Amino acid sequence: MIWETVIGLETHVQLSTKTKLFSRASTAFGASPNTNVNLVDCGLPGVLPSVNKEAFYKAIRFGIAIGAQINQTSIFDRKNYFYADLPKGYQITQMDLPIVLGGSIEIITDDSSKTINITRAHLEEDAGKSIHDEYDGFSAIDLNRAGTPLLEIVSEPEISSAKEAVAYMKAMHQLVTYLDVSDGNMAQGSLRCDANVSIRKKGNKELGTRTEIKNINSFKFIEKAINYEVKRQIKILENGEKVTQETRLYDSVKDETRPMRSKEFANDYRYFPEPDLLPVVISNEEMQTIKDEFPELPKEKENRYIKEFNLSAYDAQIIASSKSMADFFEDAAKKTTNYSLLSNWLIGDISAFLNKEMIEIHESKLNSDNVAMLINRIDDQTISGKIGKSIFEEMWVSGSSPDEIIESQGLKQISDDGAIEEIIMTVIRDNPDQVEAYLGGKDKLFGFFVGQVMKLTEGKANPQAVNKILKEQLKK
Ligand code: ADP
Ligand code: MG
Repeated sequence: MIWETVIGLETHVQLSTKTKLFSRASTAFGASPNTNVNLVDCGLPGVLPSVNKEAFYKAIRFGIAIGAQINQTSIFDRKNYFYADLPKGYQITQMDLPIVLGGSIEIITDDSSKTINITRAHLEEDAGKSIHDEYDGFSAIDLNRAGTPLLEIVSEPEISSAKEAVAYMKAMHQLVTYLDVSDGNMAQGSLRCDANVSIRKKGNKELGTRTEIKNINSFKFIEKAINYEVKRQIKILENGEKVTQETRLYDSVKDETRPMRSKEFANDYRYFPEPDLLPVVISNEEMQTIKDEFPELPKEKENRYIKEFNLSAYDAQIIASSKSMADFFEDAAKKTTNYSLLSNWLIGDISAFLNKEMIEIHESKLNSDNVAMLINRIDDQTISGKIGKSIFEEMWVSGSSPDEIIESQGLKQISDDGAIEEIIMTVIRDNPDQVEAYLGGKDKLFGFFVGQVMKLTEGKANPQAVNKILKEQLKK
C-alpha cells in the first residue's frame, strides 16, 4: 500500500512588541518570575484590556507580505477553558473575524518550490507558564508570558512531508524576521508550531483522521516528530485499526510522540465575542503608513547586493537569505571595501562556525567592526589568509579584535623581502639534498621549501613574496 502524508501547521509567532497585547506590562524575555505582570495580566476583577495597536501593525505587515486579505475591522473572542496558568479562565483570541485571511507562502525543497496556502492568521494572547519540577510537591506559576501577543498562522493541509514542513517553518522564520514582526528565536519559544498529521491511501481525496503534535520549537524536532508520527499511523492502519484523533506530545529524548489528551471539540470552548473590547478598526491612513514603511525583502536585497557590492548571484542569495547575516554584512561593508573577501568569509568560515553551534551571527561574539578589521588586515597584507583563520578562531571564542590578537601574539605578516630572503637562504643551506634533487628536476619539492619557510616564520611570511624569492634563489 502506498500512503500519502498530509500535514497542516498552526504556527505561533511571538510578536516583538515592547508591551503585551492588552496591557502595558513588558514582554522582555528572561525577567525573574512574575515581575512583568500587571493587574490586567492577573485577570483581577474589574480591570479592562486595551489593545496594543503595534501588534496589529505587525500582523498586517505579515498579511501584506503573504498576499492575504486584511480585515480592517476585526473582532476578538473569548475562548473559555480552565487551566492554572490562565488566570482569567479564558484566552482572548480571534475566531470569526481574524485580522489576516488567506494568502500563501512559497517553500523550497531540494531546488523545487511549492506554494502552501494560508487559511488565516489571527491575534491572540499567550498563557502563563506552569513549572512542575522546581519545587518539591508544588507547581509554580509564572505569569510573565501571560498576555504576550501571538500571531497564530494556520496553513491549509497542503504540506506533504516532514521535509516540506521544515521548509515551511524556515520560510516562516525568514519572513517574520525580515518583516521585524518577531525575533524568531525558536529556543525562547518565539516561533513554534503544532503539527496536524494524517495519512491516506495515495489517490484518495478524503483526508484521514489527524493527530496534533503540540508545541514543537526546533527545525530538527519538527522533522523527527512528523516522521515518527507518520510511521506510527501507517502501522496502525496496516494493522486494520483506526487512528484516534488526539493531541500528542513529542519527546525528543525518546524520539517518539505520545498522547497528551483526546481532542476537545471546538465548541467546548464556548467561544463568544469579547465583551470588554470593541471591534478593532484600522483606518486607510494606517494601512497606507504600513505599506509606505514596508521593509526590504530577501529577493530585493539579493538584487541590490549584486548591483551595489558586486557580489555573485550565489553569494548575494546566501547572505540575503538570513536577516541576521544580511544586517551584519551591510554593517561590515561600511567599514571595508573588499566586499568579495567579506562575503567569502561570511559564507565560508563564519557560516561553518555558526552552523556548528546552531546560532545566528547576532548571537555570536562577533561584531561587524572586528570582522571588517580582519578583512582589512588580510586585504592590506598585515596577515596572511591562513593566519587570518587562526585569528578568527580566537575572535570567535574571546570576542577580541583582530588588531589586539595580532599585537599580543606577534602575528604580523613578514612582507619585508630582505627578512624573507634571509630565512630562505637558511632553508637552502640546511637542506642541500633537497636542493640538489630539485635542481635535478624534482619540481614537486618546491612545496617543501615553501613549507620550511612557513615553519620557521610560524606561518607569518607573505606567501607571494616567499614564492617569488624562492624561485629566484633556486634558479636552475
Ligand atoms: P483546530 O483549530 O481544532 O486545531 P482546524 O480545523 O482549524 O482545527 O485545523 C487546524 C490545522 O489542522 C490546520 O492547519 C489544518 O490544515 C490542519 N488539518 C485539518 N485536518 C487535517 C487532516 N485531516 N490532516 C492533516 N492536517 C489537517
Ligand atoms: Mg489546533
